[in-house]
Amino acid sequence: MDVDLSRYHRQMLLPGFGEDGQRRLHGSTVLVLGCGALGSVAADMLARAGVGHLVIVDRDFVELTNLQRQVLFDERDVTDAMPKAEAAKRKLARINAQVRVTAIVDDLNHTNIERYAEGADLLVDGLDNFETRYLANDLAVKTGRAYVYGAAVGTTGMAFAVLPHTAGDTAWESSTSGNLATPCFRCLFEEPPPPGTNATCDTVGVISSVVGIIANFQVTEALKILTGNYERVSRSLLNLDVWANEIHQLKVTNAYEQGDCACCKHRRFEYLEGKAGSSAATLCGRDAVQLRHHQGIDGVNLGAIAKRLRGLGEVRSNEFMLRAVVEDRNERYEITLFPDGRAIVKGTDKPEVARSVYAKFVGT
Ligand SMILES: [Zn+2]
Repeated sequence: MDVDLSRYHRQMLLPGFGEDGQRRLHGSTVLVLGCGALGSVAADMLARAGVGHLVIVDRDFVELTNLQRQVLFDERDVTDAMPKAEAAKRKLARINAQVRVTAIVDDLNHTNIERYAEGADLLVDGLDNFETRYLANDLAVKTGRAYVYGAAVGTTGMAFAVLPHTAGDTAWESSTSGNLATPCFRCLFEEPPPPGTNATCDTVGVISSVVGIIANFQVTEALKILTGNYERVSRSLLNLDVWANEIHQLKVTNAYEQGDCACCKHRRFEYLEGKAGSSAATLCGRDAVQLRHHQGIDGVNLGAIAKRLRGLGEVRSNEFMLRAVVEDRNERYEITLFPDGRAIVKGTDKPEVARSVYAKFVGT
């Protein structure tokens, strides 16, 4: 591996890094899950740091409202309606030609994530919904790869690096400092919140700085892991609100021992096997897609969701259903939501578009 490392001089000076750490980075592959706000900041920093191969998966196109926080994109990308993954690849090639970037324009789901993750040492979370996070976590735990969770909405953010407990043969489980595995994402969040419980960036907004803080925390953890500095990985769940001046580091080290995690303790990979989560079906001749959750969900709070969507468009609701007209990328969609979480997105026959609209306006 003959690569000129001089550009990384300031980084190689860091404790636990050196030329050896830099070469490890160059030999690494990172899968960036989603290239919106968190994903674009993370991809930018990982490319500058010299991670040899980035695989970027995103289903969306660049739009004007992204530019406030999605640092890899510019007005030209909006005019050209560039897919985010492709726009990121082009920008990153100008930032660091030593880094290979694979751009994949697709909707991540249980049928394709294993293929896209092939050869990846670590997964970075730039996702916008719980379901795909469980999917990424399943894959990470099953295959013994690190997964760095991150989320940002409004003025708040959360992040945590998962070094999964596996059968016992990962580098962090057999480290000279002992077993350094952490709880997994599902140890921390056992079940997804009911649809519409969590705010989304499209309904409550998001401040750019919290994105930067969370994504850079994720990158820091990724760099520690990729260079083999497992003992430096944070053992706390970072949780902050930059508008309320609150920073919490929640101690979660016992979540694995004290919990009964379906994923990392019982090794049931329900999301990866398509047994949990949702499925999408195009409704014939109706220009609509139905999204349905595999596990039953009780009592989705339609009233609360209606309240949040009211500022964005026409909303009608009663105890049986909610119907809202929303606009996304200059297209109008009608979302019909039922108390069991089932939804019909009208205005598209593409499952990936329906899932994207649902994630943006209903959430999770
Ligand atoms: Zn777990």
